[in-house]
Amino acid sequence: MSPQDLLSTYGPREAMEYDVVIVGGGPAGLSTAIRLKQLAAEKGSEINVCVLEKGSEPGAHILSGAVMDPKAITELFPNWKALGAPLNQPVTGDDLLLLSETGAQRTPDWLMPRNFDNHGCYVISLGAVTKWLGEQA
Ligand SMILES: Cc1cc2nc3c(=O)[nH]c(=O)nc-3n(C[C@H](O)[C@H](O)[C@H](O)COP(=O)(O)OP(=O)(O)OC[C@H]3O[C@@H](n4cnc5c(N)ncnc54)[C@H](O)[C@@H]3O)c2cc1C
Repeated sequence: MSPQDLLSTYGPREAMEYDVVIVGGGPAGLSTAIRLKQLAAEKGSEINVCVLEKGSEPGAHILSGAVMDPKAITELFPNWKALGAPLNQPVTGDDLLLLSETGAQRTPDWLMPRNFDNHGCYVISLGAVTKWLGEQA
C-alpha cells in the first residue's frame, strides 16, 4: 500500500502537538524536561514537553548502584533533601583494595588518585533517583 492508499483507507493518523519532544527518560532527558519547564515558569509561560521512554517507567532501564555527585541535582532542585530525593547514604570512606587469592591489601591514602575521593557524594540507586526525577517532571 502506498502512503496515499493508507491515507485514503484509514484517514490521517492521530497526532499530538508538543513544543519539545525528548527521546529517553534517563537522568539527562528528565533533567532537561524539568529545566525547560522551570525556565518557562520563570518567564511566566508554559511549554508542553513530552519525554519518550522505551522502558516501562522512568528508571526501569537504568543501571542501579552508583556513586553520585549531588552538584547537578542541587542546581536543579536546591531543596532536594526537603523534596525527598532518594540520596540517603553519604559516602563515608574510600578504599582501593588489591585483591589476591588469600586476602586484600588496602592502597594507602597518599597513593589514591584524587578522582577516587568520593567524599561529598552519595551511594544511590540510580533507578530510584531516575524514578524520583520522573515524578518531578
Ligand atoms: C557500568 C556503569 C557504571 C556507572 N556508574 C556510575 C556511578 O557510579 N556514578 C555516576 O554518576 N554515573 C555512573 N555511570 C554513568 C551513568 O549511568 C550515566 O552517566 C547516566 O545514566 C547517563 O544518563 P542519560 O540520561 O544520559 O542516559 P541513560 O541513563 O542511558 O538513559 C537513557 C534512557 O533513554 C531510553 N532510551 C534509549 N533509546 C530510546 C529510544 N529509542 N526511545 C525511547 N527511549 C530510549 C533508555 O531506556 C534510558 O532510560 C555508570 C555507567 C555504567 C555503564
